[in-house]
Amino acid sequence: MLINEEDTLTIEDVLKAFPTKLKSSNQKLIIKAFALASEAHKGQKRANGVPYIQHCLAAAKILASVGMDARTVVGGLLHDVPEDTDITLQEIEKEFGQDIAFMIEGITKLGKMKLQVDVQEAKLENWRRMFLAMAEDIRTAYIKLADRLHNMHTLKYLRPEKQRRIANETMEIYVPIANRLGIGKIKSELSELCFMYLKPEEYKKTKEIRDRIVRKNETYIDSVINLLNKDLTSKHIKILSVSGRIKDLYSFHNKLKKHGGNVSRVFDTLAFRIIVTDEASCYRVLGEIHKQYTPLPGRIKDYIALPKPNGYKSIHTIVFGPEGTVIEIQIRTQEMHNEAENGIASHWLYKETSHGWRQYLSPKRQEEEDRKQVEWARKLRDWQKDLEGNPDEFLEGLRVDFLKNHIFAFTPNGDIIELAEGSSVVDFAYAIHTEIGNTTVGAKIDGIMSSLDSIVKNGSVVEILTDKNRKGPSIDWLKFVKTSHAKTSIRKYIKSLENTQN
Ligand code: MN
Repeated sequence: MLINEEDTLTIEDVLKAFPTKLKSSNQKLIIKAFALASEAHKGQKRANGVPYIQHCLAAAKILASVGMDARTVVGGLLHDVPEDTDITLQEIEKEFGQDIAFMIEGITKLGKMKLQVDVQEAKLENWRRMFLAMAEDIRTAYIKLADRLHNMHTLKYLRPEKQRRIANETMEIYVPIANRLGIGKIKSELSELCFMYLKPEEYKKTKEIRDRIVRKNETYIDSVINLLNKDLTSKHIKILSVSGRIKDLYSFHNKLKKHGGNVSRVFDTLAFRIIVTDEASCYRVLGEIHKQYTPLPGRIKDYIALPKPNGYKSIHTIVFGPEGTVIEIQIRTQEMHNEAENGIASHWLYKETSHGWRQYLSPKRQEEEDRKQVEWARKLRDWQKDLEGNPDEFLEGLRVDFLKNHIFAFTPNGDIIELAEGSSVVDFAYAIHTEIGNTTVGAKIDGIMSSLDSIVKNGSVVEILTDKNRKGPSIDWLKFVKTSHAKTSIRKYIKSLENTQN
């Protein structure tokens, strides 16, 4: 976990989170930003009653942990200052210069995006703004993600309906962005938290299964790490590191679902990562592994030759490993690894100057970096084109498997209601509140009067018309409602009615 919501953070924790030692000028800059943020947020509290500055420190710590530079961490400390305090953007510019003020301005603009009545359009608008902000200054997207990650960690202090709305929005917008930016750590943490709030039952079940696997393989992982390291080193391959992991919870859930809940069909639950010095060594390692352990046919993926759309590079193979256990092995260079872990940020990682981030590129790698910058700009343009060309399809493509059998509809206030596919407006009403379900007399879908058995489609805005004097739900509704929540609520009501009549 990048952050633990129970911890009380200090600015020391932020400074310690940097993977390399900071220059003293940068340390001073961060401490100065902390002083300003503390003063500005003085007296403000978070929903759980802790001082607001804890949120700023948490965002800053996350940014430092994923390899962002000192100035972006300053952005994390100051990200809520112009929006929520008396200190203005002009004052920030005076104290910290144009570059940092520009970054904070980008975040403040993004902060204003909210789901509105026309939800589909609002969502597109949110995307557009996010893209524009990213294209202008990619650091704003990182700060926004760090901000959201800490908000997700402290979601339990909010009202349940707010929890769901925020978790939904995070799953729809922030998880895909973290994925597109290739920030694996933030993506897996965000999606796990969303999963916990959106599907508490499934979350619990999946967690139990995964915890069991964790317990069973405690010693296995360490022994395989040692074995791989020893074997490959004896073949005179320079190994930088070998590590092992159990698949993160949400990805594990998706895979499990794909294979009908059959754990033994999820081949990459246990994965080992071998980091080497250069590309040629990646292929040598692959050869050695296959010599020793039988590979599963058709399971070799060469993302070095064919990188994933987000730029991810590695070789993956699935083999019958030590003791016959099926394991995945990922092979990559240190550079590929940095990119996979920290995304685009890795390009300016460890390169600090006191100027704008564009100057962080080391002269030695200038050419390489330039190429990547161009590639990044091109990718952004492509996404924007996708968005304008066929927005529905684009958004659809960004959604993860998990959302496949679910639809999202919206209340006129823009609250998101998640339903099973094929749900009726009555299901929708019960999903808002049992009392609303019980007093439903009619519904408008996208402004059009619709019968109670009408099916709610993805993205529609549903207005439920209620009448307090209505004497509860009709037994006929049971013929068309889809969700178990609606069914049990209707039955319960009818039963209570029978009881009072007797
Ligand atoms: Mn914030």
